[in-house]
Amino acid sequence: MAGPKIRLGRVLGITFQIDPTWFVVFTLITLSLTTRFSEQYPHWKTFTYWSVGILTSLLFFASVILHELAHSAVAISKGIPVRSITLFIFGGVAQISREAGRPSTEFLVAAAGPAASVLISFFFGGIWLLSDGHYEVLAALGQWLAEINLLLALFNLIPGFPLDGGRILRSIIWGLSGNFTGATRVASIVGKIVAYSFIVIGVVVALRGNFFNGLWIGFIGWFLLNAAQQSYQQVILRESLAGIKADEMMTRDCPRVERGTTVATFIEDFLFRTGRHCFLVMDNDLLQGIVTLHEVNKTPRDQWDQVHVEEIMIPLQQLRWVSPDQDIVKILEFMDREDINQVPVVEQGRLLGMVGRQEILHLLQKRLEVSA
Ligand SMILES: [Zn+2]
Repeated sequence: MAGPKIRLGRVLGITFQIDPTWFVVFTLITLSLTTRFSEQYPHWKTFTYWSVGILTSLLFFASVILHELAHSAVAISKGIPVRSITLFIFGGVAQISREAGRPSTEFLVAAAGPAASVLISFFFGGIWLLSDGHYEVLAALGQWLAEINLLLALFNLIPGFPLDGGRILRSIIWGLSGNFTGATRVASIVGKIVAYSFIVIGVVVALRGNFFNGLWIGFIGWFLLNAAQQSYQQVILRESLAGIKADEMMTRDCPRVERGTTVATFIEDFLFRTGRHCFLVMDNDLLQGIVTLHEVNKTPRDQWDQVHVEEIMIPLQQLRWVSPDQDIVKILEFMDREDINQVPVVEQGRLLGMVGRQEILHLLQKRLEVSA
């Protein structure tokens, strides 16, 4: 899910956004709904089944957001910040900033989504029952939304990682065994079995003539497979970095650059020549701030000749830092949260060095080569 997102806004610290791929699935669902309504209710006017189709489709995605909000609300109540909720081609995803620290927390966060979907299903089921026979339009809308939300809850309860059911399974095994990595391994294996089953079912459905549905099921399987692999790799990553402290891997000799240097000179004489990622901006002997590739990239190219590094640097006061005994895994989470690639290591106001993603990945690579 890389690439640009359309930002809708920020509520309670959560950024709501839409991935462009979402428009594909929104269009497909709206089209399939209008076709379904026009077949089921041939006496409706064209305008009616189109507007009901679009409205139903929008309400479906509102239900998906509510499902993600339920996960987020429980996470926040347990002290785990939520960065964003994104709608994309396969539904919604809440970017929760870190893993739950306890099995019971993970269980509650994971179960909240399907529970919300069941409640939403009951709500629309109620609308369906109450309006059936009186308001056909409302009944049609209620029926479909009741069914789809129940389906959404059931689909998410499939016990394979990364689905909610996989997280629930992991939290149970984790709680019983006390072994987080082992529990993740089991949940990912089940997740892969589920994913391969989807791919096989997709191929069978496609070969039996329902090409589009088969393709879609296979596509979901492929997505699940990738996600299951990725989430397992993340756990392995955390495990191999566990226990390493910031001062064991920081770069101690960050090059210094005078504050009056233009960005163009900085790029040519420092960035390219040293191959480093982070630089200290100095006023003679006094540290003013730091500048990294990140800040350079944010500066428009045609201004590189006029702008000085002190204008684009992160000033000392705004600098987010970590202490030398901070755990690398925590620092990675911190960099994710702050959206930065470098973080200074500071002790009692003194800058000791810098830790960057590059160094962490480097170390990880070495460790994996040794253990392979
Ligand atoms: Zn969910």
